[in-house]
Amino acid sequence: VIIATAWDCPFDGRTDPSRVLEVVAAAVAQGADQLCLGDTIGTVTPARTVALLDAVRTAAPLLEVGVHFHDTRGTGQANALAAILSGVRQLDASVGGLGGCPFAPGASGNIATEELVYWLADAGVETGIDLAKTVAAAEVAQKAVGHPLTSSLLRAGGAPVPIGRYEAPVKHG
Ligand SMILES: [Zn+2]
Repeated sequence: VIIATAWDCPFDGRTDPSRVLEVVAAAVAQGADQLCLGDTIGTVTPARTVALLDAVRTAAPLLEVGVHFHDTRGTGQANALAAILSGVRQLDASVGGLGGCPFAPGASGNIATEELVYWLADAGVETGIDLAKTVAAAEVAQKAVGHPLTSSLLRAGGAPVPIGRYEAPVKHG
């Protein structure tokens, strides 16, 4: 089950978290074991991301909860980090940050897959997704749509230095 406009709505403003919890309860009652919270208009920030995730988890501890962020206001990857640190393991993303939303003014695409893979790989998190191939796919997508996509990593041309788990400098003496 995907709950769109889980945080904010283009028509009603802020979505009351209690309304989200009602939908979650209804979904669980009907047998849902997975759920995705969508920031449809790209307005949420890390603090509210975590607040809603905490509320949903408290209400339905056995439910697997994923997230769907748009990078409309530059907070998409920060929200993704906040969600991952709070335990989320399922995230929607699109190569190049492709996509949009017909009823969200100024909507940009989803968070860019290659940006997500880039910082996760550098943190030593194994996603099973090849960064170079993802950047190549984003280049294909950009050519297909005929205009620059929003991904900063795509614009920068991929990773210029090897990425991998950060090692703290060893102290001597
Ligand atoms: Zn969306």
